Amino acid sequence: RCVKCGICMERCPYECIKFIDGRYVVNELTCEGCNVCRLVCPVEDTITLEEVRSGIVRKTTTKYGFPLISAQLDVGRPNSGKLVTEEKNWAKKIMGEEGIKHMIVDSAAGIGCQVIASIGGADVALLVAEPTPASLSDVKRVYRVVQHFREPAYLIINKADFNPGFKGIHAFAEEEGIPILGEIPYDRAIPNSMMQMKPVVEAFPDSKASKALKEIAKAVEEEILR
Ligand code: SF4
Ligand code: SF4
Repeated sequence: RCVKCGICMERCPYECIKFIDGRYVVNELTCEGCNVCRLVCPVEDTITLEEVRSGIVRKTTTKYGFPLISAQLDVGRPNSGKLVTEEKNWAKKIMGEEGIKHMIVDSAAGIGCQVIASIGGADVALLVAEPTPASLSDVKRVYRVVQHFREPAYLIINKADFNPGFKGIHAFAEEEGIPILGEIPYDRAIPNSMMQMKPVVEAFPDSKASKALKEIAKAVEEEILR
């Protein structure tokens, strides 16, 4: 039924359709299942999508009493925004059942599908940057995504004293009018707590990083959740 117009290949946002030996062929390993090719194909029912397993979503309850939803991709599956959306849908359901008011989504780095899926629909975006040119470039890009969703943003500076000569992050925050919610100093307590597989505020409660994190938690409560 394919009339070989090539529109599906042109429009696939992930470039996973190729013209090989006179046929348009989908690379199933990189296909994100976004449905664009099926929507643009002029011949009905030429392209069909099948459900496949990309990974698992699981719920655990932390020892602090709040539920944690996490996901694990199967080997070789692309990083799918759909998996993040599935996690968020689960979380919303649990929030309704357990009367939980707020959801925190820990996004991956970058501006890919999984980041867009994490940011979409949020009330507030907390951007985390480090005082380096590479991190400044990353935070500028992700801020454009946040602006696309018209979400208010706050900034947290990690390893804030790591590169004292670099003022780019503060300048960016000032230029864009993004409030800085807090600054976490470089602190060996963080990798040491990770080696103990404990949150730093529990393993080293009096460390510089723990104190800064507690201040940030207070600021989140007072300025965002108020
Ligand atoms: S469903 Fe797959 S092949 Fe089709 S446009 Fe989306 S990513 Fe490309
Ligand atoms: S858009 Fe449809 S008809 Fe055109 S090449 Fe792709 S599958 Fe074939």
